Amino acid sequence: MGSYENGQELVEYVEDSLAVVNEEEDANMETHVPIVSSYNDHIRPLLDAVDKLRHLKVMKEGIQLPTIVVVGDQSSGKSSVLESLAGINLPRGQGICTRVPLVMRLQHHPSLTSELFLEFNGKIVHTDEARVADAINVATDEIAGDGKGISNTPLTLVVKKKGVPDLTMIDLPGITRVPVQGQPADIYEQIAGIIMEYIRPEESIILNVLSATVDFPTCESIRMSQQVDKTGERTLAVVTKSDKAPEGLLEKVTADDVNIGLGYVCVRNRIGDESYEDARDEEAKLFRNHPLLSRIDKSMVGIPVLAQKLTQIQATILARCLPDIVRKINEKLNASISELNRMPKTLSSPAEVMTAFMGIVGSAKESLRKILIRGEFDEYLDDHHMHCTARLVEMLNRYSNELHNCPESDPRRNFLMEEISVLEESRGIELPNFLPRTAFLSILQRKVEGISRMPIDFVEKIWAYIESVVVSVLMHHSENYFQLQLSTRRAGHNLISKMKEQSISWVIEMVQMEKMTDYTCNPDYMSEWNKLMETQDTFRNTILTQGYSKAEIKGIGVVEVGDIRAYQNVLHQAFDLKMRMTAYWKIVLRRLVDSMALHLQFSVQNLVNKEMEKEIISELISNHGGAIERMLEESPSVAGKREKLNISIKLLGESKKVLGNIMDKIAAYGD
Ligand code: GDP
Ligand code: MG
Repeated sequence: MGSYENGQELVEYVEDSLAVVNEEEDANMETHVPIVSSYNDHIRPLLDAVDKLRHLKVMKEGIQLPTIVVVGDQSSGKSSVLESLAGINLPRGQGICTRVPLVMRLQHHPSLTSELFLEFNGKIVHTDEARVADAINVATDEIAGDGKGISNTPLTLVVKKKGVPDLTMIDLPGITRVPVQGQPADIYEQIAGIIMEYIRPEESIILNVLSATVDFPTCESIRMSQQVDKTGERTLAVVTKSDKAPEGLLEKVTADDVNIGLGYVCVRNRIGDESYEDARDEEAKLFRNHPLLSRIDKSMVGIPVLAQKLTQIQATILARCLPDIVRKINEKLNASISELNRMPKTLSSPAEVMTAFMGIVGSAKESLRKILIRGEFDEYLDDHHMHCTARLVEMLNRYSNELHNCPESDPRRNFLMEEISVLEESRGIELPNFLPRTAFLSILQRKVEGISRMPIDFVEKIWAYIESVVVSVLMHHSENYFQLQLSTRRAGHNLISKMKEQSISWVIEMVQMEKMTDYTCNPDYMSEWNKLMETQDTFRNTILTQGYSKAEIKGIGVVEVGDIRAYQNVLHQAFDLKMRMTAYWKIVLRRLVDSMALHLQFSVQNLVNKEMEKEIISELISNHGGAIERMLEESPSVAGKREKLNISIKLLGESKKVLGNIMDKIAAYGD
């Protein structure tokens, strides 16, 4: 298969064949023998292969086939040219009679009896020369309706007949500007759409049929073919009705105002009830004897010349395109097969569902472990939202900053006044120089109450974030299992709300504990308090002796004092209370942040290592009856994709076989 894969053997083969064919055709031209030759043995297998590929509709896979496309304005003589080439009658008439793309496959065969059949809508209808025009009309009605509408579904006509050139051509509806009675208003757009679709691919040869009676640059078909083939390198012109407008025809085809790269061939088709043999004789006579037409070079006139040119062009594009087609088919086939293999297996039993489920849970767990715990982001390199360890620490820092910067954490606020009023209220019948613990606790409680929303808000924010991450990971790992996604998502939600509830009650408890007890074993508390107390003498001196209303306290900052001179008897205690609280509050905040961090880490580990699996499995098994059975159904989109891939693979596989077969034939021919 080596040389077959790269198509080199094929190219050489076609080039050799072309050389043989050209020699024979030249000989035929001199003797006016119809176009029959060993061409059939050479090019025919290739053409057959392409026709088979066309029949398989390989174009649906985006593979373009080399094609001769016949275009022309309405009544320019397209059908007549095809008739002349095939030697049979095609439907002719007023208005558009070609309403669907007609694929004409002409094949020479040695028998004197011709064999004709139509292929369309997956069936074959046999016919004969006398009835073929009617059969085409019937088939057209079946494809495009019996009105005047058109359709893009092709109809194939196979003509096996002695002496016809081996050619496959596509006749398209003629271009008409003005809809006639019974035609849809957008008939022009419809026809133009079909024509463009066929002539746009680089692999198409445009056979532009022009009537000698019109001015070429005004032809709609010229305008269209120039849109897709500006230089005209793949456009060949057939000029019909040479007999009707011989004046100036030579000048028209030599001036080439319309960029026809592959040249002009002037013809005269059958007129009235002439037989095809007579028509060829009349044509030959016309171009030999007519005073004006006889001046046109013989290589540019007559149906046999057209047939020869077309077969040559056809062989050339076959040679040019086939290796590429072979390559594309192989590529697409391989791509489709590997895509199919990548698709999830269809689930066909509860055991398979469970296996798939465990697979999802396992891989989701591993992903979460990486991003939530270990900080490995290889699966989500560019998705910062999923870089969880970093995001969590960021959120924790923000939480800590909020705590430290809130009004409750500012020791200058309402300096000593709060302490004084609390002390006044906690007075009892006791010696005045004891610092009542209730005073300390009631200030502490007020402060803790003041910040109590913050840890709860933080926990809610954290869980909202974790939920988005967990659900997105679960969805990602179950994306091929549409049926599993719903319950996986539900399990994710339930799991997170459960964990969130736990966290919130833990936080509430933690805040509650801070309110109830003032304790720390941290020596920082004592040393901080001592340091702060050392500032007392300076403070008193500034405020009481010197009478300032502002004082700077080391470790606290500039404080403003109002009317505190009136409370001189409790001032010492109030100051002491303030400094104890200031030193202790730092301990409280640190505890709120530290234990939150530990709690967070603990919850995340718990979530990933324990709770998730439990929750998902219990969701799957207990909560919803028949969940597993429902999961055996595939989502419509996945099923559709699988179906499409299977069809593609079948089609491409058959196409590959077709091409493989011709390579075998070529090899055999060489022997
Ligand atoms: P289509 O609409 O392009 O398929 O055109 P047809 O093949 O149906 O031809 C339109 C008309 O032109 C028919 O009446 C043909 O008989 C006539 N016609 C086609 N070719 C020639 C020709 O070479 N000479 C003459 N005199 N009439 C022709
Ligand atoms: Mg026609």
